[in-house]
Amino acid sequence: MTEIDLDDLMENLAQCRRCGICRDAVYEDMGFDGICPVWKNTAGFETSFMRGKLMIAIALLEGRLEKTSDNTEALYACSLCGNCTEICAAEFDPKESLELVRAVLSDIPNEVRDTLAERILTTNNPYVTDKKGKRDWVAELGFEPPTKADTLYYFGCTAGMKLPETAKAAARLLKAAGIEFAVLEDEPCCGSVMIRTGRLQDAEENAKKVLESIQESGAKTVLVSCAGCLKTLRKDYPEKFNLSMPKIVHFVEYFLELVKSGKIKLKPLGKNVKITYHDPCHMGRELGIYEEPRDLLKAIPGVELVEMETNRRAAMCCGAGGGLRSYDPELSKKIAADRVREAEETGAEIIANACPFCEQNLESGAKLIDSSIRVADIVDLIVDLIE
Ligand code: SF4
Ligand code: SF4
Repeated sequence: MTEIDLDDLMENLAQCRRCGICRDAVYEDMGFDGICPVWKNTAGFETSFMRGKLMIAIALLEGRLEKTSDNTEALYACSLCGNCTEICAAEFDPKESLELVRAVLSDIPNEVRDTLAERILTTNNPYVTDKKGKRDWVAELGFEPPTKADTLYYFGCTAGMKLPETAKAAARLLKAAGIEFAVLEDEPCCGSVMIRTGRLQDAEENAKKVLESIQESGAKTVLVSCAGCLKTLRKDYPEKFNLSMPKIVHFVEYFLELVKSGKIKLKPLGKNVKITYHDPCHMGRELGIYEEPRDLLKAIPGVELVEMETNRRAAMCCGAGGGLRSYDPELSKKIAADRVREAEETGAEIIANACPFCEQNLESGAKLIDSSIRVADIVDLIVDLIE
């Protein structure tokens, strides 16, 4: 079982210099300020950004603050976007430390965290209390992928249940490219939200279940279309749970290689279609995948890629991560609306993304401000373009 070294964690938390740089007024060299999306979209109290959260965490762990649900609230008002980590000059990772604090304090009651975890553990998804529906999209494909193959499409809960068009597009893309692939009969959730919200030991048990399912499929390569699944399977399972994983590849990485090698060719999407790209935190800041999605978009004839003011390592998040969409849906949508406004300022007609979870929240944000901008996964954009 994963053990958290409490002394190590306390030492890390003590590294915070309380400078407050993680709140705002940074990236001046890039011509803008504003780092913490939660601080920007709330009343701006100290506890809304990382410095205050860390002070609360230290007080709770030292026993100076009573361990109650109310006193831990601020620890969950955070999307774990990692923007503060990116800018923090101290010798620790504030975002990662907060994630571990949540795990250490997981005995404090928290209804949202525990509801999400119970659903995942019993029904293989965080959304509903039954297993129905997660694989319904397969019946609409017009072909039945096998459950065993060298390549597995691990579609994820959000694509499967909330954005089945994206799951279908991904499967159709693979077929159009001539790739034989499997889809699991009863795909377990990757458990990302359990790791983020502190149910670490359950997440580890769940991770073993996911790995067993992958092994049973015989897959040597696992393709994912969700940035959260990607980071969880590729980075968290080996680093946190010491699991030896097969090759975990995101669709944009996979299809970029196919385009580059000339194995597939893309038809034009239109004439001068202006697209901006939203960097999912799990793919960008967590894994450093910034150029692959952009290169794939640029490989589509007729696309003009334009950048938002904050992009790549400085990109503002969509507001959905870290469990925030469940803890505080209104705040989460407000953060998404900010991101949509930023996209609108580029003049783009499409916000392209590479994560159904981001897409879902960006759509909520667009709705909140009546934006007509189209939010689309890159797989949805290219599915009909293979020559
Ligand atoms: S987390 Fe980092 S940037 Fe924020 S107050 Fe502490 S040292 Fe400063
Ligand atoms: S991880 Fe993101 S939302 Fe959380 S405190 Fe840091 S900048 Fe704010």
